[in-house]
Amino acid sequence: MDIARVTRYISDLWDAEIVPQLVEYIRIPNKSPMFDRDWAAHGYMDAAVKLMETWARGKLSQLPGATLEVVRLEGRTPLIYIEVPGQGDDTVVLYGHLDKQPEMTGWSEGLGPWTPVLKGDKLYGRGGADDGYAIFGSLAALLALREQGVAHARCVILIEACEESGSYDLPHYVDHLAPRIGNPSLVVCLDSGCGNYDQLWLTTSLRGMTGGELTVQVLEEGVHSGDASGVVPSSFRILRELLSRLEDPETGRIKPDELYADIPAQRIEQARAAAGVLGNAIYQKFPFVEGMQPVTEDLTELVLNRTWRPQLAVTGVDGLPPLDSAGNVLRPKTSVKLSLRVPPTLDGAKAGEFVKQLLEKDPPYGAKVSFKLEKDGSGWNAPPLSPWLEQAVAEASQQYFGAPAAYMGEGGSIPFMGMLGAKFPQAQFLITGVLGPHSNAHGPNEFLHIPTGKKVSMVVAEVVARHFQNHSR
Ligand SMILES: [Zn+2]
Repeated sequence: MDIARVTRYISDLWDAEIVPQLVEYIRIPNKSPMFDRDWAAHGYMDAAVKLMETWARGKLSQLPGATLEVVRLEGRTPLIYIEVPGQGDDTVVLYGHLDKQPEMTGWSEGLGPWTPVLKGDKLYGRGGADDGYAIFGSLAALLALREQGVAHARCVILIEACEESGSYDLPHYVDHLAPRIGNPSLVVCLDSGCGNYDQLWLTTSLRGMTGGELTVQVLEEGVHSGDASGVVPSSFRILRELLSRLEDPETGRIKPDELYADIPAQRIEQARAAAGVLGNAIYQKFPFVEGMQPVTEDLTELVLNRTWRPQLAVTGVDGLPPLDSAGNVLRPKTSVKLSLRVPPTLDGAKAGEFVKQLLEKDPPYGAKVSFKLEKDGSGWNAPPLSPWLEQAVAEASQQYFGAPAAYMGEGGSIPFMGMLGAKFPQAQFLITGVLGPHSNAHGPNEFLHIPTGKKVSMVVAEVVARHFQNHSR
């Protein structure tokens, strides 16, 4: 394969077509169904599908025999299914998603979730990096191979529209499409993170996630707080007490042993190595206020905390009025949304049931306590890397980034990887992405680092070509 030609081809395609497509994609507020219950009526999801479908269809003529179908199962979010014929009997699955996180507050002046802004190497706006670029990057890789006649296995591109809601529609599509998908020996996923923009980062594990809505109700209606305080226990205080069953409020450590898993020795070694490469950037990448410190100074512990340990985030609240309309009222109830990341090898569904029991049992003062489980995704721990993939990744990183590849677990979750890992235990995984320092997917000021998007596309081309060379022997 001519590396200079791949580099030029993919870079030009990004500049001429992919970046302009992503600019239009960012304008569409196609929030994941959990954040837009009326997504079907609003039509934004269809608009995003249409944009990607139109571009991809325009490219199919360059990939002889390739087909595209927007698959729509009744009552579910759509899925873009692309098949590109190849040689041999093997299959490569390339995965991405097109639904987005909600707006979030705190965007800087001039930026906004649905306002694409190009600044230097960065394209700002919601969903460009997470994960709109995946379909473009995957197709760019296959087009680059085709352009110079490099052989590859049959490739299936799956772009779902439910990832940010926990991929609850995806298992139905995987079942529905199973005979067409086949049995992949390589899975490529471009929805993950990178420790920096200087080298290729391979994701070795993903955390699972559980969570839902915790509600504490103490009264039928709000009453004068001067009258009731000291008599009626506050729903906020009870909620605080319940949360302390789960999390140590002083250290953030999750208390129950049931929510931990053993960390494999190799992963501890890799965490130490990643901490060595990244140094203080592990925490300095976050926009701390002045004087603020991370949970601990121990860098390896920070890596392990965010990749292999359970951790809680409270992501929303209800039952509390905004500050400017808060009267002296003892409120009837308080609700919070809990997002609990769990270790890669823990059963997400079991963890969710455990948390539900923990929070609901023995309610203080007989308060009405309910925990509505919403998410129960298991995590994923990579199978041992095949020598061919390890070598391909090492060389691809050198060729296109000019630096060695690095390995690290990710703190986030991609439910599909857990599903695929369980379904295809023989498959190898190339999980990587552009979510590096400050790219801030899910938060304000999300950006796509364009040079990294290009390089990741080139790496995919290289690895898909190597996959064929290895499997055709
Ligand atoms: Zn994503």
